[in-house]
Amino acid sequence: MSKLNTAALQAMDAAHYLHPFTDHKDLGARGTRIIERAEGVYLWDSEGNKVLDGMAGLWCVNIGYGRTELAEAAYKQMLKLPYYNSFFQCTNPPAIELAKAIAEVAPEHMNHVFFTGSGSESNDTVLRMVRRYWDLKGKPGKKTIISRVNGYHGSTVAGASLGGMSVMHEQGDLPIPGIVHIPQPYWYGEGGDMSPDEFGIWAAQQLEAKIQELGIDQVGAFIAEPIQGAGGVIIPPDTYWPEIKRILAKYDILLVIDEVICGFGRTGQWFASQHYDLKPDLMPIAKGMTSGYLPMGGVIVSDRVVETMVEHGGEFYHGYTYSGHPASAAVGLENLRIMRDEKIVEYVREEAAPYLQEKIAGLAEHRLVGEVRGVGLLGAIELVKDKATRERFPDKGTVGTLCRDLCVANGLVMRAVGDTMIMSPPLVISRSEIDELVDKAWKVLDQVAEQLGV
Ligand SMILES: *Cc1c(COP(=O)(O)O)cnc(C)c1O
Repeated sequence: MSKLNTAALQAMDAAHYLHPFTDHKDLGARGTRIIERAEGVYLWDSEGNKVLDGMAGLWCVNIGYGRTELAEAAYKQMLKLPYYNSFFQCTNPPAIELAKAIAEVAPEHMNHVFFTGSGSESNDTVLRMVRRYWDLKGKPGKKTIISRVNGYHGSTVAGASLGGMSVMHEQGDLPIPGIVHIPQPYWYGEGGDMSPDEFGIWAAQQLEAKIQELGIDQVGAFIAEPIQGAGGVIIPPDTYWPEIKRILAKYDILLVIDEVICGFGRTGQWFASQHYDLKPDLMPIAKGMTSGYLPMGGVIVSDRVVETMVEHGGEFYHGYTYSGHPASAAVGLENLRIMRDEKIVEYVREEAAPYLQEKIAGLAEHRLVGEVRGVGLLGAIELVKDKATRERFPDKGTVGTLCRDLCVANGLVMRAVGDTMIMSPPLVISRSEIDELVDKAWKVLDQVAEQLGV
């Protein structure tokens, strides 16, 4: 552990460390918070403050902090074989075993994994693999991928292009050609006078309209998060996915379901594709794959796509130095073993999720809260000026940021997306820890209301 005190670390941080997704001028003025250790669902900062981590890090520490088994798995693997590549007809035991273990919990028609180092890289792989697939099929025109406004698929050039975050597109002339976006199924924010069910159908039909506009011989794939995470835990209306499925069945295009957040138990199923009964061709994964203990990502690939690549042959010129990294794979394997042996997915489905959803639903009574929604261990709380009309506060994000800062001051991490508060706690969160999370959320909402004078 560092022997430097908080002020010295903050000064060094400001002098040398450029943080991701950060306003570097603003950060210099506000200073940083130094997280030093963690156990279970709790973090401790360098000042000794204890904080309940309602975000599981960044949606990833699914089995919670402090599992020595994962540290030991990495240690043992590093002593035996810290690194070797999977290029040139080589492979390694942990990567092989992890691919098999993932195939066992993936949807039935998906039996192969292409390993990457992160969720963003996984979506770069998606772009390359979709185009490779259609080239092999003799339909090289099918290059365009349809995505959604306010989706999040990572931060590399391909990831940010597939994503639909306008602020990211503005920096760097994105999206790159061949990626187009349709509206998101965000009823609370954009549904207007439609009922949620009507709006779900409308949003899904934007896909069909876009396919027809572009021409079916131009469209290679549709990519979507089953539930949008970084966009604000946006849960599509019940009518959305069935209508998307109906449309996809009509046209010959690949379905890519980005499971980077929803995969590995978050919804109470191994994958949200099982929760919504989707039949994806490609599923990018990362985050919960190793519970964040080491970086790793991948793309789970359907038999249809694998068979095409095997049948036609020819090298796929794509991969990463760290594809199938032995130490990350050993950690991923141990993470899956714990998830299975301790029945963590069942725990989410049968106990934690019903309890969390029941408790957070109560927050809708609060005068600042327009809607509470959730699936599994994902939750969102919409802060509004007027509950009846869904009218927002002026200066989008101001109230959300205030709420987020007050959460931290009260020992709770929740994230703010505009004025939507979101949560995604570790899957192992207990009932009493859920009580603590919701009690703190109530208290913070009261403090926000008090500061706003409403
Ligand atoms: C986080 C995230 C990514 C990007 O993953 P990184 O590991 O940060 O590159 C991609 N897709 C979704 C849905 C995500 O939430």
